[in-house]
Amino acid sequence: ISIAELRGVTKKYKVGETEIQALNNVYFNVTKGDFIVVAGPSGSGKSTFLNILGSIDKPTSGNILFNGLDITHVNLEALHQLRLNKIGFVFQSFNLVPVLTAYENVELPLLFKNISKKEIKERVTTVLEKVGLQDRMDHLPARLSGGQKQRVAIARALVGNPELIIADEPTANLDRKTAISIMELITKLNEDDKVTIIVASHDPYVIEKAKAKIVIQDGKIFKEELV
Ligand code: ADP
Ligand code: ADP
Repeated sequence: ISIAELRGVTKKYKVGETEIQALNNVYFNVTKGDFIVVAGPSGSGKSTFLNILGSIDKPTSGNILFNGLDITHVNLEALHQLRLNKIGFVFQSFNLVPVLTAYENVELPLLFKNISKKEIKERVTTVLEKVGLQDRMDHLPARLSGGQKQRVAIARALVGNPELIIADEPTANLDRKTAISIMELITKLNEDDKVTIIVASHDPYVIEKAKAKIVIQDGKIFKEELV
């Protein structure tokens, strides 16, 4: 079952007079249950690829499908709903709201949905337990370690029961030991909960954990293999 698909996607950025081609005619399909790592040098197009796959960004040309439906030309409100309901993002720099506690950060995506206070509390508590932060719910991000911040971000990505988790270098700002524990958590989500995951990373440990690997270079997918 296809979850997200790119068909002939090209992305160009204009910087002054210069045009940068970040993606060059990319075809790719994410299928339910996948755990894919996206490798490749810095500047090769990994973030652009993930952002278009997650409909944070729009292609210059080509098509994007979600659940088999072409969403290339749907309006911003529909894209917002799609992201809210189907996709969870995890970033290298955590992107938590500093004035909100761990609980409030995780709760955030649910506040845009029509869900009762009681159910919100149940879901937020459940995902915070899943990532091992039941004792840190009332902490502000500044009072959490890097690994704990990333656990909050993962809980926030999970709380809406997304069909796809997109993680862009989720361990890049973490020390070795913490990075491994975060990857163990992500691997467990795929193995135990069947969450579909696509993750950009250079980390050999991440590459070893994933079920499949693609390499992006100069905006092209030039290698695709099972690992
Ligand atoms: P990676 O994630 O592999 O480091 P990116 O997708 O971030 O690669 O970037 C691919 C290319 O597109 C790079 O040359 C980068 O400088 C350029 N780029 C990315 N985002 C923008 C942007 N918003 N404006 C202009 N150029 C960009
Ligand atoms: P980890 O085991 O995830 O690396 P740390 O050893 O960094 O966590 O932190 C241990 C405890 O100290 C954490 O539970 C966290 O709540 C608290 N803590 C971490 N960093 C800070 C900080 N900068 N200020 C206050 N408390 C912190």
